[in-house]
Amino acid sequence: MGDNGTPAPPMPLAWSRSSGTSGPSLEPCRRGEPWFDDGNIILQAGDTMFKVHMGVLAKHSLVFKDLSTIPQPVDAQNHGDTPIAELHDHPKELARLLDAFYCGPIFLRNEMPDFASVTSLLRIGHKYTAESLCEDCLGRLRKAFPLRSAFPYPFRTCEVTDHLPGFVLEDAIEVVNLARLICAADLLPAALYVCCQLDHRTLLHRLSPFRVNGTDRGLSLDDLERCLDGRVQLCRIYAEMSMKLFGPHDPTTNRCCTAKQACPTNKARMLESFAWPSSACTADVMDGHLNLWMVIERAKVCESCEAAMHDTHGKVQKAVWKALPTLLRLEGVVETEAR
Ligand SMILES: [Zn+2]
Repeated sequence: MGDNGTPAPPMPLAWSRSSGTSGPSLEPCRRGEPWFDDGNIILQAGDTMFKVHMGVLAKHSLVFKDLSTIPQPVDAQNHGDTPIAELHDHPKELARLLDAFYCGPIFLRNEMPDFASVTSLLRIGHKYTAESLCEDCLGRLRKAFPLRSAFPYPFRTCEVTDHLPGFVLEDAIEVVNLARLICAADLLPAALYVCCQLDHRTLLHRLSPFRVNGTDRGLSLDDLERCLDGRVQLCRIYAEMSMKLFGPHDPTTNRCCTAKQACPTNKARMLESFAWPSSACTADVMDGHLNLWMVIERAKVCESCEAAMHDTHGKVQKAVWKALPTLLRLEGVVETEAR
């Protein structure tokens, strides 16, 4: 059995045999793309066949390289003279993988692949141990979900889309599951942070149905618990940060208030008008400042006080970013930032 009680996936690759019941059905079957007449292996996924070259596959994938060293069984199933290997993948995903193999550094041609392409290639590339391809895909995920050492670059959930077009917040669940699958623990703090922004219905709805290939799958129960607990803590931190911003002038700052009569009064008034708790109740400490700063801009405090409020805001963000692994109980999982 695999994780979460799902059945263990079948072996990724094997020569098809004409005897027994494990061989694929050739009829009805259609030609997929790529199909090379001079190919020397046929990959069959579902009802689609791809005729390709073993040398090209072996160059990019250790799993295919291994297959090339395994003698074909005497009862190997052929299409004409070409042996068939049966794969348990979606034809579209396999076609995408083969396209990446044949077109070389596909991402150099397409500088901004979308989220679905990157994650799909990473998942199937991991399955077939296509190391270069996985490295490229992982690099793109790491730009979107940076390590905490990347601060002071502020982590803004809305900017993930800049790196991965088509990304929506709910996709962070897929990133967490991929990070677990390929042991890329450094993705987890930022990806789980985004999951903390999802409402509980979205998180729970994705618990079912489970699919063996992992797509459209929910978080594990452990990660779900991390998100729900983390969300509560982040909301508290955001609320405390709001109180601090509108509270008394920070004595540790070297910025001197130039309107000592007006500023405290204006800040107190703005705190009262702050639509507490609804506006303050967000878990997006790193980015959920839009409403807050609209209020601050209306607070009519002196420039020094406004700058001090920005300082405070930045300090809290930096502290939260640094503390995310602890806050999300990822100690031991994210052991190093070095890469
Ligand atoms: Zn002031």
